[in-house]
Amino acid sequence: MGLLDKRFENENIVITTVEDVLNWARLSSLWMMQFGLACCAIEMMAASASHFDIMRFGIIPRSTPRQADLMIVAGTVTLKMASRVKRLYEQMPDPKYVISMGSCANCGGPYWEHGYHVLKGVDRIIPVDVYVPGCPPRPEALLEGIIKLREKIRRESLVKKKLPPVYIEEK
Ligand code: SF4
Repeated sequence: MGLLDKRFENENIVITTVEDVLNWARLSSLWMMQFGLACCAIEMMAASASHFDIMRFGIIPRSTPRQADLMIVAGTVTLKMASRVKRLYEQMPDPKYVISMGSCANCGGPYWEHGYHVLKGVDRIIPVDVYVPGCPPRPEALLEGIIKLREKIRRESLVKKKLPPVYIEEK
């Protein structure tokens, strides 16, 4: 081992890449847009409460899209609401991430066939990173979605930002 290597060994120096540091910072402090659309939002609120404690992942709810980099679409996206969801997404700064929570946000859910007023999947208007199934998904399922999103962000590269979406399996 050379002199230089000896110095690294003794002074607790960590060698990493800019990419890894950026990804670590992003996945450790996801700030989510504070809004819910329907019944799934109740489970999202439960996930935020002390028992499930979503904040242990560094997730802080923000009331303005300009300070948020995570949107959890929790509930039914009606056609009237769809343009608002898109507008809010566009107002969030890059890099930004979307979790589609529940059947309604994933594909229209119970409104798939006859819901003339419901968007059949929020991915028709904004890109989704993680799909969480269920009607409604339990808070544990949302936590799994968040863990998968963190894994995805860890694998991102500065050159190729967007990785393919992740689908959580229904339990
Ligand atoms: Fe409500 Fe089920 Fe739709 Fe969630 S998926 S908003 S629980 S109807």
